Amino acid sequence: MTIKTSPGRGANSALDAPSSLNPNNTLQRALEPVAGASTLDRRLAALPTLEDRLLEIVRTVEGRVTFSTSLGIEDQAVLNAIAASGANIDVFTLDTGRHFPETLETLETSENRYGLKIRVMFPDAHEVEELVSRDGIQGFRFSIENRKACCDVRKVRPLKRALAGAAGWVTGLRREQSAGRSHVAFAAWDSADGLVKLNPLADWTFQQLEDYIAANDVPVNPLHARGFPSIGCQPCTRAIKPGEDIRAGRWWWENEDGKECGLHNRPRQKDAAA
Ligand code: SF4
Repeated sequence: MTIKTSPGRGANSALDAPSSLNPNNTLQRALEPVAGASTLDRRLAALPTLEDRLLEIVRTVEGRVTFSTSLGIEDQAVLNAIAASGANIDVFTLDTGRHFPETLETLETSENRYGLKIRVMFPDAHEVEELVSRDGIQGFRFSIENRKACCDVRKVRPLKRALAGAAGWVTGLRREQSAGRSHVAFAAWDSADGLVKLNPLADWTFQQLEDYIAANDVPVNPLHARGFPSIGCQPCTRAIKPGEDIRAGRWWWENEDGKECGLHNRPRQKDAAA
């Protein structure tokens, strides 16, 4: 990642010491994107609005900035802010082939509302055929390994294709969403993808999110009003009961620990399920 420098910043920052000053210092070169992301993290934390944070992201990150939307309520807030601010951010979503019809309706409604195109990434057809042939059409229910293999083919691999060549990846992650997300940064270097991962909603509470959605009349997936705070694929998502964790409806048959699809905590490639 290359971070554009700000006028007036101190000369001692790691960002002010380009590797060209010391081309043999590989440690310094390795630390530069980490330091750059850390500086951006502090800048974003100080900005009051979502729109300001997105504009700062596109001002600071050199290269393509892309936003992955699941069309859930957090991502709809980010989409609204992209449209409102005019920030030059590419938007894409992953169509796993197992979505709720309401999610696809939200996709179309959003494109019409904001007059922008959301790139739809699909899984490789041959990989899906092999997966289903090996594990069955509902094979993800039989074991965690099967479930991770399905998420890998339908989500992780298309995500990697969508992120290829990007310098920044914007998400709608919030620290409040789960214990596993409680330390999400506004900006952090993602060495696996070679880009800076950007979470402009990191510190938002659900109340802030609801207020933003209401104030801006943002279209949301109607399933949220039916007890689905977190919406994934149809066979892997159920409504939650009062008092349950907001991600309790995702892969509910699995242990609570580490219930992620691999999009935001991907294993290294050699560890990934086949
Ligand atoms: S959420 Fe379920 S259906 Fe969707 S990709 Fe993962 S295992 Fe497959």
